[in-house]
Amino acid sequence: MFNKKTIEDIDVVNKRVLVRVDYNVPLDNDLNVVDDTRIRLSLPTINYLIKKNARIILMSHLGRPKGVAETKFKLDPAAKRLGELTGKKIKKFDSIFSPEIKEYIDNEMKYGEIIMLENLRFDPGEKANDDEFSKSLASLADIYVDDAFGAAHRAHASVAGVTKYLPAVAGFLMKKEIEVLTSLLESPQRPFLTILGGSKVSDKIQVIRNLLSKVDSLILGGGMTYTFLKAKGYEIGKSICEDDQIDFAREMLDLAKKNNVNLILPVDIVIAKEFDGNAEKKLVSIQSIPADWMGMDIGDKSIELFKKEITAARTIFWNGPVGVFEWSNFEKGTKNIANAIAGSQAVTVAGGGDTLAALKKYGLSSKFTHVSSGGGAAMELLEGKELPGVSSLLDK
Ligand code: AMP
Repeated sequence: MFNKKTIEDIDVVNKRVLVRVDYNVPLDNDLNVVDDTRIRLSLPTINYLIKKNARIILMSHLGRPKGVAETKFKLDPAAKRLGELTGKKIKKFDSIFSPEIKEYIDNEMKYGEIIMLENLRFDPGEKANDDEFSKSLASLADIYVDDAFGAAHRAHASVAGVTKYLPAVAGFLMKKEIEVLTSLLESPQRPFLTILGGSKVSDKIQVIRNLLSKVDSLILGGGMTYTFLKAKGYEIGKSICEDDQIDFAREMLDLAKKNNVNLILPVDIVIAKEFDGNAEKKLVSIQSIPADWMGMDIGDKSIELFKKEITAARTIFWNGPVGVFEWSNFEKGTKNIANAIAGSQAVTVAGGGDTLAALKKYGLSSKFTHVSSGGGAAMELLEGKELPGVSSLLDK
């Protein structure tokens, strides 16, 4: 349940509304937006505000500038794309706030008009959650709307600080993300299966721990598998492994038993002589990984084993590729798992940058019930953490 106020719970008609969006979009060398998904996801909130004749002031970060302006991180390409998507002229300012911007909003801006401020991270006050910076942002508007789920885990000025000075409510994207992800934790249809992959165990410690008290089955694939296999006593050759996480892996294997969770590891893998897309490869069982080879993908028996779980599940959360899917020689596992989840009858949710890249590569994004727009924020929520971007909004 989402217990925070949304833009539908507050009167936005004719108001100056400051909207935090997540337009942290990839740009090419000519500064064109390569993937406009995040801009599209903000449209329900923006269109609602247009319909209500609000004056819409958009703000976002893009990339990782170091607190100063850099051309390659300016928001002009995002403003241009939003203009194309809404059919409206978007006035984009070259600063975050200035007397000129305030003057424009108060005296010239039309109802239903959209303006965009410059990249928030051009000012060190954003990441520092600086109070003066927050106040200056708030001084531009009557109401604050947070629709930037992808930044909800950051206690930055435009996410947290600004809410001290304006009535703060959620946009439609924020609401949807929180509803879907919390329903995984609170009321999943069972059996609830989570599939975690990716390279590192250390990135996913808290998620694994928290989910082991929520799921019925947990499949581990990808690079993180080998730390678990080593913890179980297998020889893993040169496979990626975090030796300092072996005790944690043992603890999680025990916790899974204690909680009656079916923790499933690959039974066979595709190995390579070196970490290279064209390296010599072969398929072996996990009992026979040669000392100088490394695991690169799950094998055919593992694919079948994982597919059986996927078919039985009624809720599936997936984060992290199960192999080095960027190389065609080692993408079979990830491609098959992605297709199996997409084809299942379950509620299917995916999150994380690499996972989204895999879904895009295989044209499967639209086949999932929900694809989360915020990798880091989604993982923190699933770790059981409170997100500053949510807790600071007005309660219902
Ligand atoms: P992460 O950023 O931790 O989610 O990891 C994603 C990356 O893990 C992808 O770029 C994959 O190529 C990589 N990956 C998946 N399986 C393996 C593996 N067996 N060995 C090394 N890297 C892997």
